[in-house]
Amino acid sequence: MNINQQWQRPWVVANWKMNPVTTTETIHLITELNEKLLNQTESLPNVVVAPSFIHLTTVKDLLNASIMDICAQNVCAQNAQKGAFTGEISASQLQNLGVSNVIIGHSERRQYFLENNDVLIEKIRHAFDNNLTVIFCIGETKAQYETQQTQAVLESQLQILENFKQSLQNSLDEAVKPKLLIAYEPVWAIGTGLTPTFDEIANVHHFISEMLGTMQIYAPILYGGSVNAENAKDLATIDLVDGVLVGGASLQATSFYQIIQDFCVKNG
Ligand code: PEP
Repeated sequence: MNINQQWQRPWVVANWKMNPVTTTETIHLITELNEKLLNQTESLPNVVVAPSFIHLTTVKDLLNASIMDICAQNVCAQNAQKGAFTGEISASQLQNLGVSNVIIGHSERRQYFLENNDVLIEKIRHAFDNNLTVIFCIGETKAQYETQQTQAVLESQLQILENFKQSLQNSLDEAVKPKLLIAYEPVWAIGTGLTPTFDEIANVHHFISEMLGTMQIYAPILYGGSVNAENAKDLATIDLVDGVLVGGASLQATSFYQIIQDFCVKNG
């Protein structure tokens, strides 16, 4: 398999958020995942795990790097490799640690940490400057969904990618790993057990794909929001769903493993 085929595989990304509490639990989780995936390398999707910063090194050192990749959940917006930015982690530090992916724009960061487009543009800029692949999260709130504003909201959220068209268009050379993945995550579906209908997901992914197309940007499009071991198999059948971003269900090795299996099917 060449690198092109590898990056064309589906993506299954675990967002562990501020979990687990202890390092012991974290070690247990990644070790269990390693064991479950041990004898299975061929048909696997790209499996990516995003632990909290405090567990990043532990997980990175333990995970089977031939099967899984590591991801950060955040990056500093300031234009600095290092310096007086208490509590922050720079893109250079992540790169130096061997972390090559970062989640940016998650609705929890937008909601609780007031990250707006200006901040997100800076974060994406530093990530790209340091060769990190960005998993960029977009999605509408319940009120926006109910008032049929989904497309308008997504359009404005995707608009900031115009700033990066040049570097992203270079990744149209599909011989290289995509620099950008889009995660469509309706805010009202995150952690609620609710999901849009499969038709709605298909329509939204189609809309995102069209928008990226007009910007000449290549990016796999993931779905996120209450993905679990029960619905993953059906989600994997939806056209233009190139993978999933999984929160709660990624905290149990058994359910996350099942989701990975369901995307092996999509992988053919
Ligand atoms: C998320 O927060 O990215 C997410 C998808 O969470 P959950 O799977 O728990 O809905």
